Amino acid sequence: MAFSVEGMDCIECARKIEKAVLALDGVRQVRVSYTLGKLQVEADRGMVAEDDVGDVLRSMGYGLRSEGAPMEDFLSLRNKRLLVTIASGVLLAIGAVGEFILGDMLVYLPAYGAAIVTGGYYIAIRGVASIRRLYLDMNVLMIIAVVGAVLIRSYEEAASIVFLFSLAELLESYSVARTRRSISQLLDFAPRTARLLREGKEQSVDVTDVRVGDVAIVRPGERIPVDGEVLQGESSVEESAITGESIPATKKEGDAVFGGTLNGSGTLDVRVTKRFEDNVISKIVRLVEEAEANKAPSERLVDRFARYYTPVVIAIAVATMFLPTLVFGQPLEEWFYRGLVLLVISCPCALVLSTPVSVVSAISGGARRGVLFKGGLFLERMADVKVVAFDKTGTLTSGRTVVEDIVPFDGYSAREVLKVAASAENRSEHHLARAVMERARSEDIEFEEGTSFQAFTGKGVGIQILDRIVYAGSPQFFRERGIDLSEWEELIEKRTTAGATVVLVGGEEEMMGLLTIRDTPRPEAKEVVHGLKDMGVAVVMLTGDAAPVAEKVARELGIDEYRAGMLPEDKLAAVDEYRQRHGTLLMVGDGINDAPALAKADVGMAMGVAGTDVALEAGDVALMGDDLRSLLFSIRLGRAARKVIKQNIATSLLVKLALTILVFPGVVTLWIAILVGDLGVSLAVILNALRLNRRSFTRT
Ligand code: ADP
Ligand code: MG
Repeated sequence: MAFSVEGMDCIECARKIEKAVLALDGVRQVRVSYTLGKLQVEADRGMVAEDDVGDVLRSMGYGLRSEGAPMEDFLSLRNKRLLVTIASGVLLAIGAVGEFILGDMLVYLPAYGAAIVTGGYYIAIRGVASIRRLYLDMNVLMIIAVVGAVLIRSYEEAASIVFLFSLAELLESYSVARTRRSISQLLDFAPRTARLLREGKEQSVDVTDVRVGDVAIVRPGERIPVDGEVLQGESSVEESAITGESIPATKKEGDAVFGGTLNGSGTLDVRVTKRFEDNVISKIVRLVEEAEANKAPSERLVDRFARYYTPVVIAIAVATMFLPTLVFGQPLEEWFYRGLVLLVISCPCALVLSTPVSVVSAISGGARRGVLFKGGLFLERMADVKVVAFDKTGTLTSGRTVVEDIVPFDGYSAREVLKVAASAENRSEHHLARAVMERARSEDIEFEEGTSFQAFTGKGVGIQILDRIVYAGSPQFFRERGIDLSEWEELIEKRTTAGATVVLVGGEEEMMGLLTIRDTPRPEAKEVVHGLKDMGVAVVMLTGDAAPVAEKVARELGIDEYRAGMLPEDKLAAVDEYRQRHGTLLMVGDGINDAPALAKADVGMAMGVAGTDVALEAGDVALMGDDLRSLLFSIRLGRAARKVIKQNIATSLLVKLALTILVFPGVVTLWIAILVGDLGVSLAVILNALRLNRRSFTRT
């Protein structure tokens, strides 16, 4: 069961809800996403109905609707809260007029009372729910403060803190909703229905019912409903929903398209290749949801601090209420009041809020630019990156990868060599494989569908065709297989020195020929390398390719240090070594054959992942698009997020500290404590965090 929760504005709420729902009989697992405002419940069959969950949440003062159900009507929970807050404010004003201008108790007492009841309605529901579960939260503290204020006959104070707190909660809910929207917007891009061609007729079908192999018709200007492959038609498709790139890509027969992207002026017939829940866009949303679990270090620190802070301040508050009277004979009412103020200040609300709102805001800002952080942890680590290690093939290079030359050995023709190479590479996802397939296609070569395909990471591929096994891969790969290459060493050497990647083709015993592949650096690679250096980040390149090729690329891009001829395990060792030498290491790869190195790095970044399934899962940060400049953006975003988080923590701590100290001379009143300590700081912290999500920032 999946729901959207209304009114879940604080991290605390999320934990409270999780606990309460988990306590239901038959519930096995509960996942609450504060970031998305969502609740997922796994329960034993027939044991728990949606209504049961709804009842629990409503009893705690939250709203709930099933996933996919239409938005609630006009009187949604937030609108109700807005109404009671306005009512409470008006009543408070009437009370103030009655007290200070008319001086009539018969006016101000009922007015204050009504202000407390209206403004305090949801606070009371939530507070009582918390007390029943022995959970101390801000709502409980507010109840204590209001009751206390009434006891010492500070009616106007009681009414004003209820109003202010209710207003603070409401504003928080609006701003959280705003960050939330920027994430759920991703999913909103995906249409709810698809127009399918079934049994020769057009039918509109819910996207979740679309099957692999269905054919969807996408008209001009429509969003493509699900991931698939173009069967027919040609059009430009704007893929910014996924890649963050606003320049449309041309899609024609055979090209992959993604659910949620916007079709241009052509009509496309799309053969569905994935079920809805496996779509790239669904995965992105899932990853963002799961990102909450990878908390940023400062968030953990704050959580730990808050766990001690609140009880300590509460103890001080209670002591303040009674000790001065008991020990020094001070007036009870005065000190009791100061204790109440301390109670209100004891809530670490803004502090606890400060890091997660910044993280969410940054992560959703990144997602809009096609940069997917899988947790605040990696966002913060990004700020610390001292060295970037690039994989070469497919990461620094990619631009145009073309087969330059085909050199058949004795007894074979160029076409035969290409045919065998294409048969072997057909199933490979390697960057070089694409060039081989392209060439085979352009020469109209029919490759063979072999069996038992095998990829040797960082070396090459092999496949069985009829009763013969053939390989395509690096010279090193063949040498390792015990094949004598001496006859061709000179040729290989010459080609490699010229800067071309040599791919040998051959069977178990005999060699058939070689291909040379020219792999040019991405057009933006040089700019990125220099950008990194300007940021004070060291750059190294790790590659499985031959040294001369590596050197050429390194020189062209201005990379000072590189290692060539590396096997995947060598890359792992190099990651360790560079980390020790420089500090926090970011490894950038294509996520296909370098996943172990990505996992080993402090931050692993896979790029161009929209097209490949495996890559999306690999790494801690995924660049959906194919533009390496996103790397610079993500480091900048990480650094900015780190700065905002520090500012937020410092602000909320300092304000709390100042307020606490000022309580004792009696400067801080209840309403100042709420206005400044809760409303003011929370708002400041949220607004500061939203800067990370501003278009002007995420665009550059
Ligand atoms: P990089 O480290 O530059 O990304 P890889 O580790 O992916 O390179 O591959 C190293 C070398 O192994 C390549 O330069 C190529 O010679 C060979 N190789 C790897 N996979 C393939 C393949 N599918 N087809 C041909 N050669 C391959
Ligand atoms: Mg590679």
